[in-house]
Amino acid sequence: MSFQSLGLGEPILRGVRSAGYEQPTDIQAQAIPKILARQDLIGLGQTGSGKTAAFGLPMLDRLAGGEPGLRGLIIVPTRELCVQVAENLRIYAQHAGLHVCTAFGGIDLGIQESAFKRGLDVLVACPGRLIDHLERRNLTLEKVQMVVLDEADRMLDMGFMPQIRKIFIRLPHERQNLLFSATMPKEVESLVEDFLPGAERVQIGARSQAAKTIAHRFVGVGVSDKKAALERVLERESGKVLIFVNKKINCEKLGNALKRDGLPADAIHGDKSAEARHACLGAFTRGKVRFLVATDVAARGIDVDDIDLVVNYDFPLALEDYVHRSGRTGRAGKAGRALSLVAPSEKRLHAIVAAHLRGEAVSSAPRGRAGGGGGRKRQPRRRLQRA
Ligand code: AMP
Repeated sequence: MSFQSLGLGEPILRGVRSAGYEQPTDIQAQAIPKILARQDLIGLGQTGSGKTAAFGLPMLDRLAGGEPGLRGLIIVPTRELCVQVAENLRIYAQHAGLHVCTAFGGIDLGIQESAFKRGLDVLVACPGRLIDHLERRNLTLEKVQMVVLDEADRMLDMGFMPQIRKIFIRLPHERQNLLFSATMPKEVESLVEDFLPGAERVQIGARSQAAKTIAHRFVGVGVSDKKAALERVLERESGKVLIFVNKKINCEKLGNALKRDGLPADAIHGDKSAEARHACLGAFTRGKVRFLVATDVAARGIDVDDIDLVVNYDFPLALEDYVHRSGRTGRAGKAGRALSLVAPSEKRLHAIVAAHLRGEAVSSAPRGRAGGGGGRKRQPRRRLQRA
């Protein structure tokens, strides 16, 4: 299977060569011809499956040579993801004469507005900042032909559904819709019913196969012994390790503790400024920082290819998080490793993840059952529960 055979035009194929891709990944091979045929599509793809190119390449192909203006919109949950998706698209678009801009919070609106004025064909945006620009009339969506909602399940977890609906109702009726999500919670299904009825679904293997290139290890350890156990693991690692914790405060504490012990470590979480997070990611990408402690939300935007090991210092509270976390290693077909330090209180969660990895049916508990207050407010994370 080659990129040529998927139906992409020459300018975009040159972009693919610039990116250094030789063969399409699974999701790319399945999704690109369908997107080029103008179908609405729901991609159930794991992190690291190559989904940015799966939607980016056919979008750019469709827009190449057309009249300039904002015609492609990609909505993403975090700034980091926004920057990384845009960086990838710029590589793919470099021979197609298309302008890719970003819109995310934390930097001056005026800087982004000036960039739009210099040329804007594709916008990669976080929901809140996009709405700010729309309300200030810095942008209009009237020429949008294609819209991508990336990491829809994470948007839901971050409470963005009301903003997403606000954006969708402002889009032109005639358009192509693409939605990507690792999982399909009820609220995402309902968004699909409202805005992408009849969309085709592309599933990249069953969920239980998602981590097939990853070796999963679980080590029982007492809560008070976790830090020492982690340091023993890190001492044997010569590459990059991403370490997950469940809370921002513990993220900062663990990062500081590792640094104090002389390890090349840092922490990334939502209470750090955009600049501090960017600097931290840069240091991790370059390998100056090799051990990065992260929360789930902050880690969503990390697009570092060569993570050797993912450590669950805290066991994730939702199965989706386990899948997302371990998906950070072993990307694009490379082998990876995931290690979980399991305290006695986390054994129940571990048993469920282990059953999932063996391919047994496991589902998450329904969200927000108590109260039933309208369904628009932010919902609690789903807890792990056996089906
Ligand atoms: P994504 O799932 O879009 O975040 O992609 C994960 C990583 O795989 C990124 O670093 C991409 O640049 C890389 N990638 C995507 N498609 C391919 C491909 N066809 N061949 C090699 N690497 C790829």
